[in-house]
Amino acid sequence: MVLVKRAKQVLKSLFGYDTFRHSQEEIIQTLLDGHDALVLMPTGGGKSLCYQIPALVRDGTAVVISPLIALMQDQVDALQQLGVKAAFINSSQSADETRQVEQQLLSGDLALIYIAPERLLMPKMLIMLGQCQLALFAIDEAHCVSQWGHDFRQEYQQLKILHQQFSSVPRIALTATADQRTRDEIISQLDLGDATVFINSFDRPNIHYAISEGNNPKNRLWQFLSQHHGNDAGIVYCLSRKKVETIAQWLSDQGRVALPYHAGLPQLVRQQNQQRFLREDGVIIVATIAFGMGIDKPDVRFVAHLNLPKSIEAYYQETGRAGRDGQAANAWMAYGLQDVITLRQFTQDSNADEAHKRVEHHKLESMLGLCELVSCRRQAILAYFDEQSGSQCGQCDNCQNPPAQWDATEDVRKALSCVYRTSQRFGVTYIIDILMGKLDDRIQQNGHDKLSTFGLGQHKTAVEWRSIFRQLIALGYIDIDVTRYGALCLTEQCRPLLKGDQTLALRQYEEPVKPTKTSNKKQLIRPQDETLWEALRALRARLAGELGVPPYVVFHDATLQEMLKHRPDSLAKMAQISGVGEQKLMRYGSDFMAEIAKHPLSALLDNRLSDTVNETLLLYQQGLSIDVIATERTIKETTVYMHLAEAIEVGLLEAREVLGLDKADYIEIVRMIESFEEAEKGRLKPVYDALEGQYNYGVLRCVRASL
Ligand SMILES: [Zn+2]
Repeated sequence: MVLVKRAKQVLKSLFGYDTFRHSQEEIIQTLLDGHDALVLMPTGGGKSLCYQIPALVRDGTAVVISPLIALMQDQVDALQQLGVKAAFINSSQSADETRQVEQQLLSGDLALIYIAPERLLMPKMLIMLGQCQLALFAIDEAHCVSQWGHDFRQEYQQLKILHQQFSSVPRIALTATADQRTRDEIISQLDLGDATVFINSFDRPNIHYAISEGNNPKNRLWQFLSQHHGNDAGIVYCLSRKKVETIAQWLSDQGRVALPYHAGLPQLVRQQNQQRFLREDGVIIVATIAFGMGIDKPDVRFVAHLNLPKSIEAYYQETGRAGRDGQAANAWMAYGLQDVITLRQFTQDSNADEAHKRVEHHKLESMLGLCELVSCRRQAILAYFDEQSGSQCGQCDNCQNPPAQWDATEDVRKALSCVYRTSQRFGVTYIIDILMGKLDDRIQQNGHDKLSTFGLGQHKTAVEWRSIFRQLIALGYIDIDVTRYGALCLTEQCRPLLKGDQTLALRQYEEPVKPTKTSNKKQLIRPQDETLWEALRALRARLAGELGVPPYVVFHDATLQEMLKHRPDSLAKMAQISGVGEQKLMRYGSDFMAEIAKHPLSALLDNRLSDTVNETLLLYQQGLSIDVIATERTIKETTVYMHLAEAIEVGLLEAREVLGLDKADYIEIVRMIESFEEAEKGRLKPVYDALEGQYNYGVLRCVRASL
């Protein structure tokens, strides 16, 4: 119990947090009691605290085994910022540097040491560890023991030696991979039979999921970015290197900082781009899936896919790089039929055996199913990982805007019969051309303009037909034969549909919505806090630059947001902010307080009114007139009056001053409103009429708000 109390003190004084999350406390307790633990936790769940805190509470040095060199560096940087004695040993160091760290280790100077597995297994290292007092072993990315997984590391399978040589030192193995087979393998390969297993939900509630049609993907992406992520850091995934280059260039032309990353770039360029992504605020990285492993940037606000991932596992892992700090983040995708064909082709052309190809094929089908789903996407993702979730999430596109469905039976029959009548030898574009009645040479040469289905689909656009075909593939009615250049063929499943025994409802095609200036923009930052927010971010970037660490190592976004909310004006109040531990308070507390003091919140804007009202108030405060505010914000003047009325009602503004009314006029309106109040239950039309339209409704509303 004493140790747990100390663990809580460390959480508060060092990391600046008041409470543990998920099962962190139980996991820490297990290690403090000297037992082993196996922890399955999604990324962003706070895995590292599970061993960092016991490492600091127990006597001796904790040894953290990690396969990811970049990640070691980040973690050690972050710990050193907190004043913790931590170091790493890996191949990136010179012999001298390594010797120094070894010295520190031997003299018991280190609370934590991060080691790559191949280093750890060297006899010299094991002997050295035998001479130290050890607090615990943490085996990170424990799924690397699995020879079936894509992250397999041979050395991980030899790590059971730790149990044999250091049987009294507690071990904790951690992974963000969920499935049962990997879990069993970790237990047997690492000799963790006696470990307590902690399985956390794999839900990432702060991630919003949305998947859309892929036509005009660049525009869709741009709309998504301008609506939700005007200044945010994020990752855009593309399937090909060429597309990575094109999209990165295009985003740069649009004024964003967007950098390419793929295996074809020189090592140095890749490293530089990755560094900028980590160290600068608001950088977009456009990448193939080669990017991401070992990236632990907590404030990635979005992951956008411009192509279909090859499986739900891949989708979950890639989108999981967003929002590791627990703040709201978006997983967004636009995909098209061509992606399915390309991915099938990849599998077909690979050297894998038939069984393996079948598995890949099946995984792609599940992914496609997720895309064309009409119900909650989160439920479907969790179900794929065998996790049941009771209710719809309310945090995905399908929950928020349930897709319209239509009876597509007739059109689907036309489509299927067109595939059949052309002997199942043609791809989707050609079939759609026939349906649309396009008279080109190829169709004429093949005599397909004589088919009964020729021109039968002109009531729909080609884009709508593509949507229909995509759904038919996702639902298993049509298959793509990649050995025959993507020819469409019918499956057994079509029979009842073609015979007229079955009807079929499909998802309605939706045009991308044109964003308006204010449409459902998810505001994390209140309009009145925006200048201070930018100032705090700039200060953080400057301090981080001086120290050569990423900005989030100084403070996470969530911590800066708390500062906005509470605007601490003393060190005591600053210490209350979540994420401000003792070290950081000492180092940065006064700098951030000084910045906050430079941006006082005026009495008018210190309110709980909605964001849109505050946007109006912000402009009003700058001295703009009502009509100018309306133009500036592209809203109606009546709306501006309504916003001002809200501020008048809570006593932030004086009606007479806002409206520029002299006393007599004001009293005239007040009397009129009062005389109608009882009979008309607050309706303004009688007042307006009685005053012969001298004052518009906006004015009347503001006066009424002042009563
Ligand atoms: Zn949902």
